[in-house]
Amino acid sequence: MKNAVTTPRLTLVVPCYNEEPMLPTSARVLGGIMAKLITQHQITQDSKILFVDDGSQDRTWDLITQLRHDQSLFTGLKFSRNYGQEAALMAGMQVAHRYSDLIITIDADLQDDPQLIFKMVEKAHAGFDIVYGVRNDRTTDTWFKRTTAQSFYWFMRKMGVELVPNHSDFRLMSRRAIAALMQFRESRPFIRGIIPQLGFPSTRLYYKRAPRKAGTSKYPLRKMIRFALDGLFSFSVAPIRAVLYAGTAICIGAFVMLLWIFIQHFRGVVVTGWSSIMLSLWFLGGFQLVAISIIGEYVGRSFTEAKHRPRFIIQTDTFTPAFSKTKPVVAEFRFDHQSVK
Ligand code: UDP
Ligand code: MG
Repeated sequence: MKNAVTTPRLTLVVPCYNEEPMLPTSARVLGGIMAKLITQHQITQDSKILFVDDGSQDRTWDLITQLRHDQSLFTGLKFSRNYGQEAALMAGMQVAHRYSDLIITIDADLQDDPQLIFKMVEKAHAGFDIVYGVRNDRTTDTWFKRTTAQSFYWFMRKMGVELVPNHSDFRLMSRRAIAALMQFRESRPFIRGIIPQLGFPSTRLYYKRAPRKAGTSKYPLRKMIRFALDGLFSFSVAPIRAVLYAGTAICIGAFVMLLWIFIQHFRGVVVTGWSSIMLSLWFLGGFQLVAISIIGEYVGRSFTEAKHRPRFIIQTDTFTPAFSKTKPVVAEFRFDHQSVK
């Protein structure tokens, strides 16, 4: 590992939605890791753990406030309501990147191995702007979760969307990479799809995914389906293309049918064919509805984008005041880029 010219300020961004049972453990484990990095002079002393309370209904925010009073390492953002994990991540990064050299995003439930943070910081010192945490062992996930996830990656690749397979939202990014991400102004950004498009020197680190230690998954099937559809429709126009191909194939079929009808007509067979009429009636009717709804999906999304509504509303921010005396853009942290091709 090459030494950096200066020490980077790191912010851990942790989205939290009803994480009351998990938060004390997460704070202890992540706090320990930060303390160790600080003693090793890998990161600055004023590095922070930023909990983003995504409109929790339980005592999550009270716990965050308590942690903040006990130790200045902890700080928080509170949304005015629940906006979803992606919004929580975007908010955390948006607020933190002006005062951070490096940002690591990690789930509050510690399913992603927090020990990997040490290696991620090492990679940043070696000059990488983006370090992806990738699960190479998902045996602790349910069969259902694994299969749906695998099919999702497969399908997205077929649709032409580049994703890092088995990477969720556990990653390190440099300030300039985050600044680039912030230029994507769409109202519901599909972060995992955007980041590979940013470019910058990036690398992957592998770990085993652990089961959730406390609390329950905040992703019921309904949210998972919504997430998958968001990814698809916000990143690819392949479904419209597919409808075009299918429509063309059906037109060719209809032309063949026309010839067949003529032949039958001249052969004097006219009344038969009830079944083929019924079949094409139902098939074409169904197909048209699907086609229209796919187009409607894109029109609807354009409508949402055109309104330029805020992606989230922050009710309380205890992170920014902590740095109010600091200049927004801290002295450029210089990586030693020698080791990265
Ligand atoms: N989360 C959030 N808002 C939501 C749902 C989830 O901020 O609306 C957070 C949650 O607190 C956790 C992370 O996103 O830190 C991942 O959620 P979870 O562990 O429930 O998802 P799973 O691991 O089951 O996919
Ligand atoms: Mg989880």
